[in-house]
Formats: sequence, structure tokens, C-alpha cells
Amino acid sequence: MLYLGSHISASKGYEAMGRQALKLGANTFAFFTRNPRGGRAKEIDEADIEKFLALAEEHAFGKLVAHAPYTLNACAAKEDVRAFAKETMKDDLMRMEYTPGNYYNFHPGSHVGQGSEAGIALTAALLNEVLTEHQTTTVLLETMAGKGTEIGRSFEELRAILDQVNRKEKMGVCLDTCHVWDAGYDIVNDLDGVLDSFDRIIGLERLKAIHMNDSMNPFAAHKDRHEKIGEGHIGIETMKRVINHPALKDRPIILETPNDADGYAKEIALLKSLYEG
Ligand code: FE
Ligand code: FE
Ligand code: ZN
Repeated sequence: MLYLGSHISASKGYEAMGRQALKLGANTFAFFTRNPRGGRAKEIDEADIEKFLALAEEHAFGKLVAHAPYTLNACAAKEDVRAFAKETMKDDLMRMEYTPGNYYNFHPGSHVGQGSEAGIALTAALLNEVLTEHQTTTVLLETMAGKGTEIGRSFEELRAILDQVNRKEKMGVCLDTCHVWDAGYDIVNDLDGVLDSFDRIIGLERLKAIHMNDSMNPFAAHKDRHEKIGEGHIGIETMKRVINHPALKDRPIILETPNDADGYAKEIALLKSLYEG
């Protein structure tokens, strides 16, 4: 089954997001749990959530892939920044339980000079404080491009974080095509090899979702600039292989390309036309 969608504005609530997804031809979507730069989240409106859940069931939506704010840095050097990350994540995970069984994706963080090993330990420690036994949400570490001091720029770093998390059954990984390309994984010439190495180092069963973005940058640029599908250095042939790859089957695929609603609708239609399943 192809589960395909894009980022959608959360400002009008859940039912509005679901209806917007349908308008785009999508059957899943991503949204920021609060302003991408942080700040307070909207009040939970249970009637709105009920309507959304009915809509999602009626239209057989795949799992949603919520995105934590960009400002959240679980491995910051400053304690108050880490405390903000912890409170935000705790609150987000509590809210995610109103729409049970979905995904919550976050950037593992920037070690800001402390070194990757220290960053990895801090991010894992924070996860150990916020994950709970009864949560139905799976938290996803996003594969990062490795710009600045980002951690999560290699499969080994993601594995190292997972190794230090106690509730591993609540964890997964979201593979961002632009980020892995920028990080130096050659999905254009060797998608099978990249997925094999993911499987060896992390395990494909942990790969829960895909961010599908082309890249403005050439291979291994460590930059992280998303491009429209087929208009960047990755290209449409690779996107076609990704959506049809047996090892990636049934994962929700989220577009984070520089587009307005019309642009997303076109990309969704294009990718559907390339799906062979
Ligand atoms: Fe992201
Ligand atoms: Fe992404
Ligand atoms: Zn990115």
C-alpha cells in the first residue's frame, strides 16, 4: 500500500488537516505539533479529534508522522535548552496519545561542540526521561544531513542513540532522502547498498517512515536544502525506486519539498503514477 502525503498546517486543527490531506490526494500527512520554532501548542479540542479519527478511518489513512519543532535540541550544552526540549517532548507525547498509534519524528540534536559521543548520550538520556510504558506513539529519530554539529548524520550514530535508550520498542527511524544523500549515502547509484547498510547497522524493522525530498546539493554536501521532487541532484528515477522498493513497502512517505498546496498535489499525483504496487 502506498501511504503518501505532505506537511500540512496544523493551525485549523485535526479535522481540517485530514480534509486538506484528502484534497491533496494524500492518505497520510505530517504536521508540526506546535510552531516549528517552538512556543505553546494549541489547546486539544476533543470534538475535533473525534471528527478527524472518523475521517482517517473512513479514508484508510496510514500512520501520521508528526514533527517536533526545529528548535528542540535534546543534546544542547545549556541545561535550560535541554529542559525546554524535555518539557516540549513530554507535552507533545501526551498530546499524541489523543490520536493513538502514530509517529512523532524529531531531529536528534546538535552537540554544539561537545562532540558526537556526548551529544548521543544526552539525547538518549532525554528519551529515557520522556518515553513511557503505555504510550502508543512511536518516536522516530530522523536521519540528518550532518550540517554544523548535528548528530544522527550516520546510521552508526542513530544506532548508538538507540543502544542507550531503555524503551527501544517505542523507537524507530525516519529516513529523509535529502538528508542521507547530503550526509554521503549514495541512494542514486546504490540504493540497495544503502538499505543493506541500514539493515546491518540499525535493522530495517526500525525504519518506520520516509521523508521524500530532492536535494539542492550534490552528493555528500552536508548542507540540507530540500528541492522539489525530480528537480534536484537526486532525481525522479531514484524517487521511483524508493517508493517501489520492497524493503520500504507500506511506510508512510512524507513530502517536505518547497511547495504550496498545488505543488504538493502535483507531486503526490506524480508519485502515485510511478507506483507499481
Ligand atoms: Fe525534519
Ligand atoms: Fe525531513
Ligand atoms: Zn531537511
